[in-house]
Amino acid sequence: MKIFAKYVFVGVSVGLVCAAQTPKAAELKLPRDYPVKPVPFTAVHLTDQFWAPRIETNRTVTIPFAFQKCEETGRVNNFIRAAQALRGEPLADKKPPGYPFDDTDLYKVIEGAAYTLAVAPDAKLEAYVDSLIEKIAAAQEPDGYLYTTRTIDPLSPHRWASKKRWELEEVDSHELYNLGHLYEAAVAHYQATGKRSLLDVALKTAALLDKTFGPGKQSIWPGHQITEMGLAKLYRVTGDERYLGLAKFMLDVRGPNGRTYNQSHLRVIDQTEAVGHAVRATYMYSGMADVAALTGDVSYLNAIDRIWENVAGKKLYITGGIGATGSGEAFGRNYELPNMTAYNETCAAIGNDFWNYRLFLLHGDAKYIDVMERTLYNGLISGVSLDGKSFFYPNPLESDSQHQRSPWFGVACCPGNITRFMASVPGYVYAHEGDKLFVNLFAGGTADIRMDTGRSIRVTQQTRYPWDGAVKISVKPEPAGKFTINVRIPGWARNEAVPGDLYRFADKLNQPAVLKVNGRPAPVRLEKGYAPLTRVWKSGDTIELLLPMPVRRVVANEQVAADRGRVALQRGPVVYCAEWPDNPNGRVRNLMLPDGARLTAEFRPDLLHGVEVIKGTAYALAYDAQGKVTRNEQALAAIPYYAWANRGPGQMLVWIPNNEASAKPAPYPTPATTAKVTTSGRKSPRTINDGEEPASSADMSSQFDWWPRKGTTEWVEYAFDKPATVSETEVYWFDDTGRGECKVPASWRLLYKDGDQWKPVENLGPYGVEKDRYNKVAFKLVTAGGLRLEVTMQPNWSAGLQEWKVK
Ligand SMILES: [Zn+2]
Repeated sequence: MKIFAKYVFVGVSVGLVCAAQTPKAAELKLPRDYPVKPVPFTAVHLTDQFWAPRIETNRTVTIPFAFQKCEETGRVNNFIRAAQALRGEPLADKKPPGYPFDDTDLYKVIEGAAYTLAVAPDAKLEAYVDSLIEKIAAAQEPDGYLYTTRTIDPLSPHRWASKKRWELEEVDSHELYNLGHLYEAAVAHYQATGKRSLLDVALKTAALLDKTFGPGKQSIWPGHQITEMGLAKLYRVTGDERYLGLAKFMLDVRGPNGRTYNQSHLRVIDQTEAVGHAVRATYMYSGMADVAALTGDVSYLNAIDRIWENVAGKKLYITGGIGATGSGEAFGRNYELPNMTAYNETCAAIGNDFWNYRLFLLHGDAKYIDVMERTLYNGLISGVSLDGKSFFYPNPLESDSQHQRSPWFGVACCPGNITRFMASVPGYVYAHEGDKLFVNLFAGGTADIRMDTGRSIRVTQQTRYPWDGAVKISVKPEPAGKFTINVRIPGWARNEAVPGDLYRFADKLNQPAVLKVNGRPAPVRLEKGYAPLTRVWKSGDTIELLLPMPVRRVVANEQVAADRGRVALQRGPVVYCAEWPDNPNGRVRNLMLPDGARLTAEFRPDLLHGVEVIKGTAYALAYDAQGKVTRNEQALAAIPYYAWANRGPGQMLVWIPNNEASAKPAPYPTPATTAKVTTSGRKSPRTINDGEEPASSADMSSQFDWWPRKGTTEWVEYAFDKPATVSETEVYWFDDTGRGECKVPASWRLLYKDGDQWKPVENLGPYGVEKDRYNKVAFKLVTAGGLRLEVTMQPNWSAGLQEWKVK
């Protein structure tokens, strides 16, 4: 039987029906679900200085901006064109169809908009969303199929689609991925507005899936997971078991003998290590948690519990980011956590929080909230700028100026994901189980919580978290009576940087967390990371929690090569970085912070929308003319990692060397290292004169390249401060043959600037193109205002360089 309840609100992260939150709602009883239930974001009103302004920026800036981008980039038009094609009309716009997954960007922003409508009614926004839904509905084929890239032009869809529906081999069908996002959006829209328009579109596609897939029917798995989570939401909102069955089927048909890239190398229940594309992986693990909760099948749990141990213990960045490598947007090997090339896709951070929250709901253990909080305050919100209008796809932990947020992407998964995640943050603060209330996150505001026992509790938090560890919680239970409040004592407040031994605090904190109830000390006896407070609670009772927040140094497990001889700074849940605008000479990559150096913190309301800044004294290291390393004491300032890259490109560093051997001294100033660098390419060439020696031509840590241009002639130029007399140059080529599309060039030459004219130098030897070494060329001495390297690539190959020296 299908039950459609109007005004049913959900814990957005998992789509749990929490009908009891509003008297208008009819409740949908499922035979089983997560033992712990989230308190939906609609019941939690944050008024704090950290999240509330971000959520408002998301509502008033990011969501309208993302809709505008969906319009400008043809994503909305794809639905209009598909509808025209269905009606047999000539297409107004002859452009090829977009990426096979472009539809999801619109679905995600609709989901984000629906969440904001649930808490902040906005007739104009609601009408606009209605108009989008009409366009989506018109693009649906008569049998329910919805995939604009094929419907627009079935004979020549995008090359990553195929001529056949649901093709998995070669093209990694995205139809099912798109539908997963459609389901999430449809459920959100239905619950926010009570309107069935998008839900009806979704259910029509689900009926087609039910006809097409299952035992004795077609057996393919989604090329990109999320369908499973989406189907679980459809089940929760309709009670129709076919959708739960389909979700389970989509998991059970996956693997073995597929590819690690999309986690089909093994059956899902046999997987123990996080591998392959990190977003696909976390969406799959989240879907497995949903299906485990809804069916009681523990075989999924055994797998995701072991995979979680692997991620938390070996594959998690200190910022909570996951997915170390850009090659396949994937998890790296155990302990492979490079900093400058860290991929850490914003969507993977969001997926990591979806997954960790679900594990918490299954196990009621705060260690999952510890990981979730780490990601939330650091590597997730770093994905969006403070003004809400530009986004990181990768979130690296070190930069030599080559990274900047971008207003949008060709593949634009991350901005839409931000819109829906930010709107739902209040839903992660509280949870409940029986007569037990969980306080998971600390943020000022008020929540109205309905317990399973029928008791309602108004909870008010007052705190300046994450800048201050003092939290005051007031409760107003109705009726008063005996129940338990589980107050989370974060791992960072009890000398545990992460669950497991991937990171540890270098020092031991001797100030324990302090708890008081109605002003009287209460013992902190931990159970699964919580201090349970069981008593008769009555209106006006208060809990005071004091979490000491000194500046801490974190060190990584010795097996993480990239972090050896380095420390990261953390205060409360916030991980810090040194960034160029706050440090002398705009350099931070040559810093060294001795272990004994005292560090203090100070709140700066004027900086980066108000942040606590860490201050201390460090050494700046540099090479002198003789090649010896010199040390200069200088002031160090570190800002929260999430706030970096809001003031233009430049150096940034999370892991700061604590000894000279792991430090990177600044190069001795030469005409090259002080030159202004420009190029015919689109990437920043500033890493080619940083004086850092590449390990090989294939070193991916700080090369410059012209990819994706191939076979062309390009240039890079040094403009000298003042005319310089030069007679020798050395070039170290970039070459990633075997992994990428860059090779040493076919040829090159050097020109010098004489007045306004570029003239070739008179080279005294050949222009070398050898790999893994400097190619040195001497030339007849010139006095030049600048030098230009002109590079002709090999046909069908791109090119790039690691380092370019001049003497
Ligand atoms: Zn993304």
